[in-house]
Amino acid sequence: MTPVLSVVVPVFNEVEVFDLFAARTRPVLDALGVDYELLAVDDGSTDGTREVLAAAAARWPQLRTLRLRRNAGHQAAITAGLEASRGELVVTIDADLQDPPEVIAELVGAARREGVDVVYAVRASRASDSWFKRGSARVYYRVMRRVAGADIPAHAGDFRLMSRAVVRDLLELPERHRVYRLLVPWLGYPSASVDYVREPRAAGRTHYPLSKMVRLGLDSVTAFTGAPLRWATWLGGGGSAVAFLLGLWAIVARLAGHVVPGWTSVLLAVLFLGAVQLLCVGLLGEYLGRLFEQAQGRPVYYLETESRPRERDLAEAL
Ligand code: UDP
Ligand code: MG
Repeated sequence: MTPVLSVVVPVFNEVEVFDLFAARTRPVLDALGVDYELLAVDDGSTDGTREVLAAAAARWPQLRTLRLRRNAGHQAAITAGLEASRGELVVTIDADLQDPPEVIAELVGAARREGVDVVYAVRASRASDSWFKRGSARVYYRVMRRVAGADIPAHAGDFRLMSRAVVRDLLELPERHRVYRLLVPWLGYPSASVDYVREPRAAGRTHYPLSKMVRLGLDSVTAFTGAPLRWATWLGGGGSAVAFLLGLWAIVARLAGHVVPGWTSVLLAVLFLGAVQLLCVGLLGEYLGRLFEQAQGRPVYYLETESRPRERDLAEAL
């Protein structure tokens, strides 16, 4: 029987947390009074999370686990979960209890009451996050609102409820680098939101170091606009104009008998132009690299379980 509600939870090296998560989430889901499934997507964990998940699944019939063959990243793990989900309503939530599971009931309640396709869980307070995370989040949401041209709710991460129609639209998007917190508002379905207080991580530590945050930022910008490429052109044009005027000035000064002294200005100009050029080449690379991966068209993730039956066939054939 297909469940009414699917809850998708990406899990990466959360051996200390998952049991806590399950213990707090199960009563909430059981109390909803609808058929549900909890889809735990093990994003290639290497710390024993796999055994923890298997043990939890043995005790909890509604828990389905998927395992990705290697770490594919938070958004790719969500993709795997969405593809496997069957519910008419789908909730995505983090495993570390920063998103309180009790809010799932509020999300479902709001969807029913207001008849909307999307309900965002919005962090009313991020006091538990570091000042750096809060500051970077503020800049991120402000920039992305501009860039994506959609009404992106600030401080709505990946904790939200979506209807089957939304999930279907998301999965039909051909792009590989998906940032769901932007794509969902961009789809433009009617939405509501529920406030909650972001809690500190229950245990373990974040899997979003600065490098992954930068990658998410670049994925976000490049997914919605080619404008930075245009800025590069403008920067090049502006630089050329300045260089032309300076050149003119140098010739005139030379003809007037002034020998232009000092290599400081020359050095600065060379360094500056070199930096600008490298920056622009890097920018091109960001787009080109994504085009390349898109053109390769490789799957975003591999499910581990798929390889097992094949191995057995091979053993029998030999
Ligand atoms: N996660 C994942 N793959 C990754 C990184 C994170 O599936 O490569 C999961 C992680 O287990 C958690 C969620 O994504 O359920 C959010 O990650 P985390 O709590 O580390 O990020 P933060 O809350 O610090 O931004
Ligand atoms: Mg977290």
